[in-house]
Amino acid sequence: MTSRLIPYGRQYIDDDDIQAVVEVLKSDYLTTGPKIKEFEDKFARYVGAKYAVAVVNGTAALHAACFAAGIKEGDEVITTALTFAASANCILYQGGRPVFADIKADTYNVSTEEIRKKITDKTKAIIPVHYTGQPCDLEEIKQIARDHNLIIIEDAAHALGAEYKGKKIGGLSDMSIFSFHPVKHITTGEGGMITTNSKKLYDKLIQFRSHGITKDKDRYINESHGEWYHEEQFLGYNYRMTDIQAALGISQLKKSDEFLKRRREIANIYNQELKNIGWLKLPYQKSDINSSWHLYVIQINEDKLGKSRDEVFEYLREEGLGVQVHYIPVYWHPYYQNLGYSKGICLNSERVYRRLITLPLHPKMTNDEVDYVIKILHKLDMER
Ligand SMILES: *Cc1c(COP(=O)(O)O)cnc(C)c1O
Repeated sequence: MTSRLIPYGRQYIDDDDIQAVVEVLKSDYLTTGPKIKEFEDKFARYVGAKYAVAVVNGTAALHAACFAAGIKEGDEVITTALTFAASANCILYQGGRPVFADIKADTYNVSTEEIRKKITDKTKAIIPVHYTGQPCDLEEIKQIARDHNLIIIEDAAHALGAEYKGKKIGGLSDMSIFSFHPVKHITTGEGGMITTNSKKLYDKLIQFRSHGITKDKDRYINESHGEWYHEEQFLGYNYRMTDIQAALGISQLKKSDEFLKRRREIANIYNQELKNIGWLKLPYQKSDINSSWHLYVIQINEDKLGKSRDEVFEYLREEGLGVQVHYIPVYWHPYYQNLGYSKGICLNSERVYRRLITLPLHPKMTNDEVDYVIKILHKLDMER
């Protein structure tokens, strides 16, 4: 088993997924055909949103959402530092300035008190990230947004199927974005989705996805020249997903509940079997949420173990575990340092980053693999 790493995440593709893709390859439309709308409708229904817009990846989904939110030069947008760079890059694409609010020490999600401290008269939006699949304090964030007239874009790349107070993430604020990268809950190879309940935002997102061009007669600014007529009304991109990918997405979405069930099952086994290891802090779970368990992260207590996180990481890799670290604080990256962000602006995020390790967790993991991960962590404990 140690010859190959057990990855921290990976896709789960069945024969029916393959079949769905092959059918599209034999059909008339490879892109912007019937599968896109079907995927969008089914996805919107699944997460409880009115509208969904499929795009090429989660990063494009964030970019489109920032555009639809009206983020422009000079605007500030608050997000977390403990996330993938895309959560902040999308603000820069629109000429805005990412402002990093620190995390809470227990959930590792952005702290609402820290968000409040970072608000200025330039603040336009908040991008909370449901880190590892545990929803942020949405009620509180929505209150802040109401108080300061801000738009909320939830980065729900980790949170397909996650629930906040009994409701699925996806229809609970202005916009939510999802990713279908192979390590995420369902995959389309590369892919992303924006969900919203607003027709106005939906129309903008659809148009942004295809060069800012509309073929809707009722919305033309100038007079139509004929059947071929269409208008580019603002600068958009080609962010269109293919029907090949959408067909895979539809097929994967059918299995989402099954995938989630398995993720939660494995997380529960880890919670049980690792709880007596004193140098290891398990993920904290708030009682009003139901995590989608995209990632299972543990915190290493260096003082108790007598080994650093980096040493533990090496140890686990050598034993065949494809562990990872999520994430380097965004503003630590050289690009952000060059933009003028100084170290030390989110101390909790930095402290937690130095201690985190992501264990393997994905629906295709076998019970033997789960047991093996547990065995290795106990072995490390014995050797202490
Ligand atoms: C994966 C991910 C993204 C970006 O999604 P892509 O599909 O890879 O572009 C954005 N935010 C977070 C938190 C992610 O984990």
